[in-house]
Amino acid sequence: MSNTGKLTGKLIISGQIELKTGLHIGTNKDTLEIGGVDNPVIRDPLTREPYIPGSSLKGKLRSLLERAQFSAQPYDNIEQFYNKTMTTGNILVRHHECSDESCTVCRLFGASTGAGINENRPGRLITEDCRMTGESKEQLEAIDTGLYLTEQKSENTLDRITSAANPRQQERVPRGTSFSFTLIYTADTTPNNNLFKADIRSLFTALRLLEDDALGGSGSRGYGRIAFKDLKAAYRPLEYYTEAKDEVIISQNGETLMAYAEKVLSTLE
Ligand SMILES: [Zn+2]
Repeated sequence: MSNTGKLTGKLIISGQIELKTGLHIGTNKDTLEIGGVDNPVIRDPLTREPYIPGSSLKGKLRSLLERAQFSAQPYDNIEQFYNKTMTTGNILVRHHECSDESCTVCRLFGASTGAGINENRPGRLITEDCRMTGESKEQLEAIDTGLYLTEQKSENTLDRITSAANPRQQERVPRGTSFSFTLIYTADTTPNNNLFKADIRSLFTALRLLEDDALGGSGSRGYGRIAFKDLKAAYRPLEYYTEAKDEVIISQNGETLMAYAEKVLSTLE
């Protein structure tokens, strides 16, 4: 059984994502505006503010955690671990899903039937869309870049023989901008259970790996470096919802991400 069928509480982890370098999360070309930039960033249709889709954050966290888990455990071959295939357009995307109860990737992010998995496994993690903070919005509104809350970055590809430049424009959210993020972990065991602990440790490992990786496009060219800041964990046991019992709040106070994860777990034990 990969799911106890229980709901014992929620651990809500929130904080800020600070951009260390410019961020480009692109949008579908169909939504291009007339007179818009070549490669626009995704924006909220109502407010026009750039945001980080929860799906982008989730996808990156999952892929980093899958690769870390594949490295840490013995598997016969790469296809045995990356056992699921998806075809988007004509691009083959391989990833991992399994029915192993102790697999934190599939516990956090879920797995669906097929490739030896008999039952759907709902993920325990919700990643919300990340909104720009009010402070960052104010700062960016005060700068005239010609674009609303973003900047335009010019890049060149050089012909190797003639040195002719092939310029292009990328829209990106400037370095220094902050977004609010919220991750909701739905617990089906109590916080002193080893599965709960393994899930939370894996989640923080993924956050830490992402800090040394990149979010969005053009990561190898320096885009999308981020840091997680000012974390707060609120644990709401089932009684919070049924009997108005207090939540337990644990704030990050200068600890590294992994040390903070241990503080959260030891406080809740
Ligand atoms: Zn798995």
